[in-house]
Amino acid sequence: MSDIYDVVIIGAGPAGLAAAIYTSRDRHRTIVLDKMIPGGQINNTDRIENYPGFLKISGTELVSQMEEQCRTFGAEIRQLAQVTALERMPDGLIRVEINKKETIRARAIILTPGSDYRKLGVPGEDRFRQAGTGVSYCGTCDAPFFKDKTVVAVGGGNTALQESLHLAKYVKKLYLVHRRQEFRAESILVEELEHVVKKGKIELVLDSRVTSIEGKDRVEQAVTLNIKTNQVRTIDCDGVFIFVGMIPNTGFLKGFVELDEAGFIKCDPWYLRTNVPGVFTAGDCRIGAAMQLATATGDGVNVAMVLDRYLKDPHWWSKPGP
Ligand SMILES: Cc1cc2nc3c(=O)[nH]c(=O)nc-3n(C[C@H](O)[C@H](O)[C@H](O)COP(=O)(O)OP(=O)(O)OC[C@H]3O[C@@H](n4cnc5c(N)ncnc54)[C@H](O)[C@@H]3O)c2cc1C
Repeated sequence: MSDIYDVVIIGAGPAGLAAAIYTSRDRHRTIVLDKMIPGGQINNTDRIENYPGFLKISGTELVSQMEEQCRTFGAEIRQLAQVTALERMPDGLIRVEINKKETIRARAIILTPGSDYRKLGVPGEDRFRQAGTGVSYCGTCDAPFFKDKTVVAVGGGNTALQESLHLAKYVKKLYLVHRRQEFRAESILVEELEHVVKKGKIELVLDSRVTSIEGKDRVEQAVTLNIKTNQVRTIDCDGVFIFVGMIPNTGFLKGFVELDEAGFIKCDPWYLRTNVPGVFTAGDCRIGAAMQLATATGDGVNVAMVLDRYLKDPHWWSKPGP
């Protein structure tokens, strides 16, 4: 069989699998490559409550349904297939190097390698990452599980403030730990935060960092250190939310597509086209991503639909947005 695919999708997370369902149903020869197993980040949770259509579903259950849909419509899925390099050839095809030893070619590419949450790297963080034991990186996903509880949040940027304000609607009390006095967030968010602080729902723990997360079977305390006074404080809590940024899995794309300073893939806002003809992107790896399951799958579907236009007429690529 030829080594040329209509579409090579890099990353079998929700964005990549959603795209593959559509491209394979459109009868485009599709392969999805993943350096690990299919499913991406969502494999790490057993309780999703905000994916439309499912009141409650586990990540692995959802992923196995998506995989089956892909295979039913003819998409190939390969695990342990890490894409190590990409190159656009003079004939317009894109060469995809897998595990540094094998090559396939594509008429179009969808980049869906996702992002990883930046970790604090403190004792207890990995131990309590398991769903239901208290460490979380997503307030939007997990806030309802902490209704009327006490939580510690960590971070000082836009996401940290947005997520803390969202959490404050559910929890009894939130301690926001930030290593400086000033927040790096937009002033409107800082004002909103000050308002909630005045009401006593949020308490600021400034000039401080979390040094460990303690507990027996689940989070019971967070230990903080004031970096100016060296004062150690132990905060009793039911959960620790870590909002210190995302790291896109785009190292292998440097020099191939345009990335922003943080490494997110640049694309146009309508059709998610990168700066390289025939190369689209979708999901958590792209600039402006909402970092949610539903938005990642939505992105994948969007791209698959416009990709059909590109495969039918490559001149479509140079058309501006609507
Ligand atoms: C614990 C946890 C709980 C969550 N809970 C929720 C929730 O309740 N609701 C919600 O909406 N969202 C939730 N999220 C967020 C959601 O999982 C992500 O937004 C979503 O998975 C993003 O999908 P994606 O396909 O863009 O990327 P990812 O899921 O990150 O998938 C990317 C895939 O690409 C692969 N890959 C990376 N680099 C390469 C390479 N070079 N070659 C081949 N493959 C590669 C990776 O192995 C991975 O499988 C949660 C996340 C976590 C970690």
